[in-house]
Amino acid sequence: MRIFRDLWWFFKKEKKSYIWGVAMLLVVALLDIFPAYVVRLVVDAIEGGWLTPAFLGKWLFLLAGAGLTMYILRYYWRVLLFGAAFRLGKQLRGDLYAHFSRMSSQFFNRRRTGDLMAHATNDVQAVQVTAGDGVLTLVDSLVLGGLVVLTMAVFINWKLTLISLLPMPFMAWAISRYGSMMHQRFLKAQAAFSTLNDKVQENISGVRVVKAFGQEEAEKASFQQLTEDVVEKNIAVARVDALFGPTITLIVGFSFFLAVSFGAFFVLDGAMTIGQLTQFTIYLGQLIWPMLAFGFLTNIIQRGRASYDRIQSLLDVSPEIVDQKGAVNRLPAGEIRFELDRFSHRKGEPPVLQAVQFSVPQGATLGVVGKTGSGKTTLFRLLLRETEPPAGTVFIGGIPVEGYTLSALRGGIGYVPQDHFLFSASIRENIAFGKPKATMAEVEKAARLAQIHEDILRLPDGYETRVGERGVTLSGGQKQRISIARALLLDPEILILDDSLSAVDAKTEEQILEALRVERKGKTTLIAAHRLSAIEHADEILVLEYGTVQERGTHWKLLQQAGWYAEMYRRQQLESLIEKGGGHPW
Ligand code: ADP
Repeated sequence: MRIFRDLWWFFKKEKKSYIWGVAMLLVVALLDIFPAYVVRLVVDAIEGGWLTPAFLGKWLFLLAGAGLTMYILRYYWRVLLFGAAFRLGKQLRGDLYAHFSRMSSQFFNRRRTGDLMAHATNDVQAVQVTAGDGVLTLVDSLVLGGLVVLTMAVFINWKLTLISLLPMPFMAWAISRYGSMMHQRFLKAQAAFSTLNDKVQENISGVRVVKAFGQEEAEKASFQQLTEDVVEKNIAVARVDALFGPTITLIVGFSFFLAVSFGAFFVLDGAMTIGQLTQFTIYLGQLIWPMLAFGFLTNIIQRGRASYDRIQSLLDVSPEIVDQKGAVNRLPAGEIRFELDRFSHRKGEPPVLQAVQFSVPQGATLGVVGKTGSGKTTLFRLLLRETEPPAGTVFIGGIPVEGYTLSALRGGIGYVPQDHFLFSASIRENIAFGKPKATMAEVEKAARLAQIHEDILRLPDGYETRVGERGVTLSGGQKQRISIARALLLDPEILILDDSLSAVDAKTEEQILEALRVERKGKTTLIAAHRLSAIEHADEILVLEYGTVQERGTHWKLLQQAGWYAEMYRRQQLESLIEKGGGHPW
């Protein structure tokens, strides 16, 4: 029952709905006692031979009145209780979503998207059921059940009540047990189905690889195995499900058997009238639902409890990166400075960056190169505070980044990450993502700078063409350029291109860089790239290796040093010459 105490804050908030809802349930429970009583009066009157039309008319009229009242009340308590439960679902979902959006990317790295989705759907649903069906079954099993048993014992015959109710606790127990068995098996069936789903999704997205490696038959066989597993687990669910009906019929039948056999004896003995026995058996039938409800209640509570705890423990994880007190809410134009001795993602792990000291004057362009895994992305993420740098090691305009609010940092820095992402929306909406109110002229200007305007015009609906899962298929280079346009639209003080030109051809790359040089004069740009031509014009270039700065300087200076950079540059020149079919470079 602890779940009801935990949800007390919500019941208090929805006081009105719950007080009215439960009050109506109570009135309905009371009225439910009435029809059997009328049957008893009429049966006894028939047996006594004094049934008159006036007598029958009066009681039938009252019966109809009770029926109509119950009809109305049953409608309203449902609306009230389930309405409140839906509002609880809405609030929990809202809380979770708001919480997720405050969390840093580390949080999402550590958890699977599917699990987070499950919390936001299944767990919220289970708590919602507790607040609706849970309250209903609690009131019905205790109040309605109690009231019926009390009427049977006090107003009819307590001995017969005791005898007939003997089998009922077994029913509550059986329902509760079947319920939890069913839930366990259902979870397994669901898990099997989700594995099957993942497999299908993976195979459809990866169909080219499957075909290229001739693995169709092997994949078909493993699919077959998964579907068989799904069938097996669903049959296991059906097996328990099939137990409910027969068990209830058996136990209820036995209860009726006891009531009628002992009841007949009491009637013959003169301890009860026939009318009372009839009334008694009707009540017995009415007890089935409260008993079932009691069985359901234990399962509803268990599930609600577990789900609520899971949601709460998620909500209890506090965001790792938050605004500090007195943080500045505006990012100034200024110098970027790194004074990082050592940085690792987790304590005790080898450093990802070490002895990284450099500064980028306001308006300058910095190039960062190095092998994959050398720490380029980490460097940028520290600047954005997507990963928290050690205090006082990364500065913008002389203030450490933790001295700015997150919205100032992320609003003032345009970041085009390596793994660009387009939403299932129009191209215009994708470009205007960071500034939804941008005019069409602004969107087009950003697209022109990113050299994607012409491509967009060639699409069927121009800027209104939809992209993403259900939209047109764009090439990797086009997606990259749309992501660049998205960042450029913000006209940020600092622009970061994290290997964002890798999929565009050399000529387009040169055009984009040239446009940036002109358009972003006086603003700071940081570029990480594999192709060195992308950073050739940078004011300073850092060559990272295993997280340390191995070489630094301008393009010409680095070429003279005859290190990794010079070697790489020569190799790339050679490659591009061969690609162009330009013959021997020597
Ligand atoms: P680059 O951008 O140069 O390819 P990264 O900055 O992405 O390099 O990665 C540098 C190193 O940090 C890699 O060894 C990578 O495995 C590690 N790394 C990156 N992100 C995380 C993280 N969230 N947790 C732990 N290690 C990470």
